[in-house]
Amino acid sequence: MPLVFTPLMKKRLTHRAQTMIERSLPYFPELQGKMITVGLTRKHLGSASIGYRAGAITRLIIRLKVRNVTYQTIGHELTHLVQGLARGDRWIPSAAVQHKVPSGEKQCDIWTLARDFLFCDDPPTYLRMPRAVRERWPDYAESVRELCIAAIAHRATRRRYIQWLEVEIKKLSAKKPLPEQGPRQLFLPFIF
Ligand SMILES: [Zn+2]
Repeated sequence: MPLVFTPLMKKRLTHRAQTMIERSLPYFPELQGKMITVGLTRKHLGSASIGYRAGAITRLIIRLKVRNVTYQTIGHELTHLVQGLARGDRWIPSAAVQHKVPSGEKQCDIWTLARDFLFCDDPPTYLRMPRAVRERWPDYAESVRELCIAAIAHRATRRRYIQWLEVEIKKLSAKKPLPEQGPRQLFLPFIF
């Protein structure tokens, strides 16, 4: 997949960040063969934009912070590009429409987490979740990802699938009390 770094990004890019970006791309087959420009941002976690000329897509751009960049942020910005492509392509047959990522920030979070566990290394920005889930994210990441996948499936029949998801995520913190500090003793049942 052709990847172009802006001059400023080239100066700041670390081996770690470059490896993370390159490792993320194969999870986005929709972007395959398209040239992606990667720039630097300082203000936000990241941003994504699509350049158009005469109705045709000319440029796909994501901007990232290099320091402490997460797969979650990289995935989120790449998902924005997928959202943008879906909007731009008017000739996509209707059968493919349901596979498109709907626009919106929460939608972007849901589809990013669902795409692969790789993108679950940090909590998403826009999905509403209890503080306990955000603060103890590694304990909840897998369950939240499963709920995102379920929410995408529910979307076919439930218009309020995002509200459904946020309620389910809220339930997680109630279901899963904080584990006690210190080594946990494990009781195994005897099997005869
Ligand atoms: Zn976003």
